[in-house]
Amino acid sequence: MRFAFTHARVLAPQGWLDDHAVLVADGRIAAVLPTPALDAADLPRRDLAGARLAPGFIDCQVNGGGDVLFNDAPDLATLERLAAAHARYGTCRFLPTLISSDAAHIAAAVAAVGAARGRVPAVLGLHLEGPFLASARRGVHDVAHFRTPEADFATGLDRLAPAVRLVTLAPECVPAGFIADLTARGVIVCAGHTAADYATLRAAAAQGVRGITHLYNAMSPLQSREPGVVGAALDDDALWCGVIVDGHHVHPAALRLALRAKPRGKLFLVTDAMPPVGGDATTFQLGGLRVHCRDGRCETDDGTLAGACLDMASAVRNAVAQLGLAEDEALRMASTYPADFLGLADQYGRIAPGAAADLVVLDEALAVRETWVGGERVFAVVTHQRSVG
Ligand code: ZN
Repeated sequence: MRFAFTHARVLAPQGWLDDHAVLVADGRIAAVLPTPALDAADLPRRDLAGARLAPGFIDCQVNGGGDVLFNDAPDLATLERLAAAHARYGTCRFLPTLISSDAAHIAAAVAAVGAARGRVPAVLGLHLEGPFLASARRGVHDVAHFRTPEADFATGLDRLAPAVRLVTLAPECVPAGFIADLTARGVIVCAGHTAADYATLRAAAAQGVRGITHLYNAMSPLQSREPGVVGAALDDDALWCGVIVDGHHVHPAALRLALRAKPRGKLFLVTDAMPPVGGDATTFQLGGLRVHCRDGRCETDDGTLAGACLDMASAVRNAVAQLGLAEDEALRMASTYPADFLGLADQYGRIAPGAAADLVVLDEALAVRETWVGGERVFAVVTHQRSVG
């Protein structure tokens, strides 16, 4: 199957290209060229009339969407629902994220992600956020599920590793060598929900911690004599940081400081999305807690933030409006940089020959009009055409 998008404003690796065409063949991008240079008269064309065409979004932290929470039913049907809910906002690929849970739920999540292979292409693997986390930085995680890895967890990893792409853990809560065991099996490790001091985080980075989960939230802060996890994250150019840009989780000034401290490309957007994203309900249950979503904030009765009511397209617009980023850079933080973080730069996150044809069509206000995954359209805004006559 070959077709072309034409007359698009294409976000290519080198920047915006006006009036360009993107040739798609067998689910991959075959070429990017000026629209007038496209010959092959018989090629099906999709005229975008100057609309923006950006790389499909990649979200490393999706707890829920479409009124379902992955923790409640970690199965294939939930993954299909999450994929559809987030496709409305330009997300082409994501990591379903299981927050701290028991062994049975973890096993079910691993099985669901395994079953999604070849059936829900949006799923890039499982993100286990916990259960090896610090009580002092629990957020809304249920401490009843927190534990240290049992002796057999590392051997069990050989079974889990193909499905588990990312583990968020508190370095101070795992035994020596555990982080290296995970990374040796190809699992990416991030520090999060951690009270570690600066020295502990440095040691964990030396063991293979690649990034920081929701920078600033649920971790030891930057202080004068104790730089904490935040200080280590900002100081170490090698560490990636996911950030929740919803205007509630982190003050925009703190995010602007992080942007100045980090090398370009090391900060990426995550949603930490909860069931209301792409859904109808404004309340949901999280463990035994009731969570309300009001004015874009998900919080429990006592006011604790419980994930986000944030979709990726809104995160991109917030990054432009609140952080002063150029549109192209905000879009890369939702696509190119998370692909790089996941080690998947050769397949995703770029409109370049050889990459998957994961594409988002956006209007001038950066609202999503269409979402394409691997050359298949998975979402389009319904436009009401006036009937003639
Ligand atoms: Zn969290």
